[in-house]
Amino acid sequence: MTMLYRRLGQTGLQVSALSFGAWVTFGNQISDDTARELLETAYAGGVNFFDNAEGYAAGQAEIVMGRILKNSGWTRSSYVVSSKVFFGDTYKGPNGRGLSRKHVVEACHSALSRLQVDHLDLYFCHRPDPETPILETVRAMHDLINQGKVLYWGTSEWSAQEILEARRLADKHNFHAPVVEQSQYNLFHRHRVEQEYAPLYETGPGLGTTIWSPLASGLLTGKYNDGVPPESRLTVKGLEWLRDRVIDEQKPKLDVVPALAAIARELDTTLPRLAVAWCLKNLRVSTVILGASRPAQLKENLGALDLLPKLSPELLARLDSLALPAAT
Ligand code: NDP
Repeated sequence: MTMLYRRLGQTGLQVSALSFGAWVTFGNQISDDTARELLETAYAGGVNFFDNAEGYAAGQAEIVMGRILKNSGWTRSSYVVSSKVFFGDTYKGPNGRGLSRKHVVEACHSALSRLQVDHLDLYFCHRPDPETPILETVRAMHDLINQGKVLYWGTSEWSAQEILEARRLADKHNFHAPVVEQSQYNLFHRHRVEQEYAPLYETGPGLGTTIWSPLASGLLTGKYNDGVPPESRLTVKGLEWLRDRVIDEQKPKLDVVPALAAIARELDTTLPRLAVAWCLKNLRVSTVILGASRPAQLKENLGALDLLPKLSPELLARLDSLALPAAT
């Protein structure tokens, strides 16, 4: 398995086609030793992008990742690290979240200190904030870039219209524009990346995508078809909302999973590998952010790269016909 690198949209930055994120796991579901093993496994496999956010375990995920990066001995140039602002960390007061200039700047400073780095390669607005003028946020991001604290900024789950508005304002004021979106993308969740953003990829500053939940939080492994196994994400305290969303509200999707698993067996591979490889077939995807609570899962998922040559147009059409009826 050889890692592929893709340019992040129209920027010059190269990200590994498979990257690794800290949501749910770091500082929460797994021990710090396991987190270190996971990061080392990813890096050894050619992963160069590690994703984080102020909101992951209320800042603890960044602390754990920062410690590992600091002790790793890896040259700073060899990895790309992100943070995201919006959901806040431990402080829950009025300016503790959102996209105001105050919170965007303070959250950046906190992320730099928790991750123990001098700059964030990527800094995302984790959600749109209807209570803050977009210009205020665009200006704050522009200033952070000019100060050298952030290299590229982007959005996460903003509508195409909101991204276009940020671009228009950046253009008007000669500010740095957002160049990357972090969106959910998997066999069951396709519309935004494939259709809504279609006009954005080749226009203006372009749009890279760092896509999340390629396995739909584990649904696309088949592990939830016979109930919720112990020690899985859906048993993590505080994630009851996710359990409801994945299990109770997704019955039609769960019903499709065995047929998808059968196709994986035909290809002599596993469903997680097939689901990850499917995401990579879309060249609008700059990088697929993997999540894992154990090194064996991560090793399995990194193997998706080997499957790419087997995903013929006919096979993709078969997957479409199975997964699309439930797709959103
Ligand atoms: P996935 O949908 O791939 O889910 C990952 C989880 O699935 C793992 O933690 C593990 O959970 C299970 N799993 C993974 N591989 C296997 C396997 N081979 N066999 C069995 N189970 C497996 O991705 P995530 O939802 O974790 O998202 C990835 C990253 O994307 C996050 O870490 C974060 O960085 C980013 N993200 C961004 C969001 C945003 O709003 N911008 C939102 C969500 C994620 P288990 O413990 O149950 O085994």
